[in-house]
Amino acid sequence: MDILDLSIREMRQALEEGRTTPKELLEKALERAKKDDCNAFESILEKEAYEALEGLGKNSGPLYGIPYLTKDNFSVKGIETVASSNILKGYRPLYDATVTRKLKEAGAILIGQTTMDELAMGGTGMSGHLGYTYNPYDPSHKRMVGGSSSGSAAAMAEAVVPFATGSDTGDSVRRPASLAGLVGVKPTWGRISRYGLFPFAPSLDHVGYFTRYVEDAALLLGVLAGHDPHDMTSSHRPIEDYAAYLDGNIKGKTFVRILDIEESLSDKRLLEALDRLSEELIKRGAVIKKERFGKDLLESLYATYIVISCAEATSNDANLDGIKFGPYYEGKTYDEAMRKARTAGFGELIKRRFVIGSFALMKENQDVLFLRAQRNRAKVVARLNELLALGDALLIPAASGVAPEFEAGGDKLSDEYLIADNHLVLGNFGGLPSISLPLAFENGLPLGVSLTLAPFKEGEMFRLASVIEDITGLRGLSVLNRKEGNL
Ligand code: GLN
Repeated sequence: MDILDLSIREMRQALEEGRTTPKELLEKALERAKKDDCNAFESILEKEAYEALEGLGKNSGPLYGIPYLTKDNFSVKGIETVASSNILKGYRPLYDATVTRKLKEAGAILIGQTTMDELAMGGTGMSGHLGYTYNPYDPSHKRMVGGSSSGSAAAMAEAVVPFATGSDTGDSVRRPASLAGLVGVKPTWGRISRYGLFPFAPSLDHVGYFTRYVEDAALLLGVLAGHDPHDMTSSHRPIEDYAAYLDGNIKGKTFVRILDIEESLSDKRLLEALDRLSEELIKRGAVIKKERFGKDLLESLYATYIVISCAEATSNDANLDGIKFGPYYEGKTYDEAMRKARTAGFGELIKRRFVIGSFALMKENQDVLFLRAQRNRAKVVARLNELLALGDALLIPAASGVAPEFEAGGDKLSDEYLIADNHLVLGNFGGLPSISLPLAFENGLPLGVSLTLAPFKEGEMFRLASVIEDITGLRGLSVLNRKEGNL
């Protein structure tokens, strides 16, 4: 096993015992980054990474010498950061995002920025300005790794680094994590500061991250969580010792399965694996309940998400006018210059979403579209809270199956699409902690399962997830370190 396949805790141990050095970790990570053939990178920051290494000094932070990657929508001071969009070409943030700063202070070394769906809108890894990002599990490059945090997921599946940042507005960390055999985390809204994260739809936006081990996910939250005076919405709740929850004891813990989501799935292997996982959880003392969410509400999720997120995005991205950031286009008036910049700068998907957002925000449409979507969101969250009151966590497949092919097409109004591939947005509607992790393999491609809990139950989330990881035997996965799994 290569040192880069180890968990962060094991890497730290190897560093302490002198079995490796931060320099060796960095060299190996850069070597793997350069071998990437999945279009995972916006940049490889080799020079900056060596400078950061020099600057480590006596840093004894919890991530001392650990290399990592960041999604291209986290501000990195002085480094071009463009959210995979031409509209931001040349933009160099004047300050670090709080996440960037905290990781630096903890001793982590940033080695590059990863590709994404443009401005974090989308779930395919097809809309970024550098083209498609591929799923490392499919060497023929026919399959997507998902998005919008595509490059982070791809590079993590290539085991370039032990963790990478992402952002999750609908599912953009947890779904790609599922398609790439990784652990993907989105904690409670407000648990991690969003200062310096380019906004997409702030009422739904969460900082998230990818790891290959649940224990690493617990460790990282301890580093990233906490109140930030720069982000009014960040929580004052004390940070917990999340690793202390990993005791393997799930006696009496109740998992709630949602039948109307499962019924929307056609992948038998996925359902079988979920059943077997349930049996194993019961053997360890857990209780499984089967409930229904309400099909009407589930079918409304995607439309509600699109209206709210596009409306918020339209408003937030109004500042991308070609004057304040990115390339300037000559025009006789502000309108003309702005129109030229936005026409040239945004991709097709973004334009479509801005049309939806502007339409929903027009005075005459606000009540039937934007406010109605808000009312429906409230209904969904009320139902979610009723279900969470019945147990400790919702246990739901993280995606409808394995990574789809780019050209798969499919019926966008089918239950499989509307429900099975969009239910993770529940966690964003409610601002709830949610995790996805590997469940099993199907024809060499990963399948994932998700847990969603009540606000600020991250510790519990890691406890339950680590037991699932123990049952599946799927930890530390990458295309270089493949495992079959136990289910
Ligand atoms: N797939 C969703 C979308 O298309 C989620 C995006 C996200 O979470 N950033 O918007």
